[in-house]
Amino acid sequence: MTKQQKTVSVNERTYKWPNRPVVAVCVDGSQPEYIEEAIKAGVMPWTAQVVAGKGSDLRADCVVPSFTNPNNISIVTGVEPSVHGICGNFYYDRESDKEVMMNEPHLLRTDTIFKAFQDAGAKVAIITAKDKLRRLLGNGLVYGENGAICFSSEKSNEATFAEHGIEDVLDMVGMKVPSVYSGELSEFIFAAGVKLMEKQRPDIMYLSTTDYIQHKFAPGSEGANKFYAMMDSYWAQLDELGAIVALTADHGMNAKHDESGKPDVIYLQSLLDEKFGTGKARVILPITDPYVVHHGALGSFATVYLDDEMNTPVRDYLKTIDGMQEVLSNAEGCKMFGLAPDRTGDIIVVSNQQKVLGTSESRHDLSGLEVPLRSHGGMTEQCVPLVVSTPVSGVEPDRLLRNFDIYDIALNYTSA
Ligand code: ZN
Ligand code: ZN
Repeated sequence: MTKQQKTVSVNERTYKWPNRPVVAVCVDGSQPEYIEEAIKAGVMPWTAQVVAGKGSDLRADCVVPSFTNPNNISIVTGVEPSVHGICGNFYYDRESDKEVMMNEPHLLRTDTIFKAFQDAGAKVAIITAKDKLRRLLGNGLVYGENGAICFSSEKSNEATFAEHGIEDVLDMVGMKVPSVYSGELSEFIFAAGVKLMEKQRPDIMYLSTTDYIQHKFAPGSEGANKFYAMMDSYWAQLDELGAIVALTADHGMNAKHDESGKPDVIYLQSLLDEKFGTGKARVILPITDPYVVHHGALGSFATVYLDDEMNTPVRDYLKTIDGMQEVLSNAEGCKMFGLAPDRTGDIIVVSNQQKVLGTSESRHDLSGLEVPLRSHGGMTEQCVPLVVSTPVSGVEPDRLLRNFDIYDIALNYTSA
C-alpha cells in the first residue's frame, strides 16, 4: 500500500505537508536589484550559491497596489485581495464616512495558510517587524502551550504566552527592542527566527521585515548591501539547520524624485479641487499609515471616491496629466489587479515609475525625508524575487508566478 502524503487545503489551494521546516521570508520593498547588486558586491555568499544553482532564482509579480498589507495578506492566504479583502493599508468606508486602517482582523475575509496548518497539527511561527501586521497575520491562531508563536520585533518585549505564544523574547534573542525606524527592527526577526528554529523547529515559519532600509538606500549602495549581507548570514543559518528558505518581497521600490532630489509628486486632491470644485472628489492614499517618516505617505497608487456622474469626466481629465500609468474605473481596476470593489474607490490611479501621488502639498509632512524619496505602490514595483534555497521543479513553463505562490512553490514544487 502506498502511503498517501498528508496535505492541507485552504482558499481553494492544496499544500503538501512539509517533511522539514519551511521558512518563507518577505523582504519588504526588495526590488530584485537589491539582491542582484549585493551578490555582485560579494556580500551575500549564501544567496549567491542559491541563485547559482544550489537552489532556484525565480521572479514573481506582487499585488497592485504594491503596498505592504495587501501583499503580506496575499502571501499568507495564497489569494488575491478580491478574496481576502485587504486592498491597501487604508480605505474609505462610505457608510461611516471614515478613513479606515486595514489592520483589524475582522476585515479579513478568509483564513490564513497558518491557521489551516495549525488546525492540521503543525507548529507555526510568525515574526513581523511592525506590530500593525501581527494581528492580521496571526488571525485565528491558537496560542499557549504548544500553540502558535506570533509576535513583532517592535513589541517583542510585550510578548506573552497567552497572546503571542512566547515570553522573554529579548533574553532568547539577546538584543534590545529595536527602534521602529531602523534596520535592526528587521535583523531582530531573523535572529529570533534562528533561535526558534534551534529550540522549537516549527514546521511553518513566516518572517516579514520592514522596508525602512529600502526607502533610504538604493540597490548596490553601502547601506543596502550591509542590510542584505546581514540577512544572508541568517538565511545561511536557517538553511544549515535543515529548513527550506523561500524568499520573496511584498513589493519593489524605486526612486521617486526629480533631478534636484525633490519628490516628484502629483497632488491629486488639489488638482481635482481646482478643476471640479472643492469637496467634489475624495482622494484616498492607501499607503498612508502611522509610520510615514520614510515615505511621507507618498506612493504610486491612489483611489478617488466621487458621485457617479463625475466618474467619466474625472477619469478623462486625469488621463491628460503627465505621469499617469493607468486611470481606471473601479470595475476595470478591480478586475485588472484582483481587488475587492467595496474596499476600493470609484477610480483607481497608478502613476509611472518616477512619480508619486499625493493629496495636497500641505497634507504631506516631508520633513522626515532625510534622503531623496524612494517609494512604491505602482505597477513599476510589481516584479519581486522568488528565491528558494533548494531546487524547484515541475512549475508549468507558462505560469506567471505571484509572490503569494511562495508557500505553493516551497511546499509543492520542492523536496520539502
Ligand atoms: Zn512593504
Ligand atoms: Zn514602504
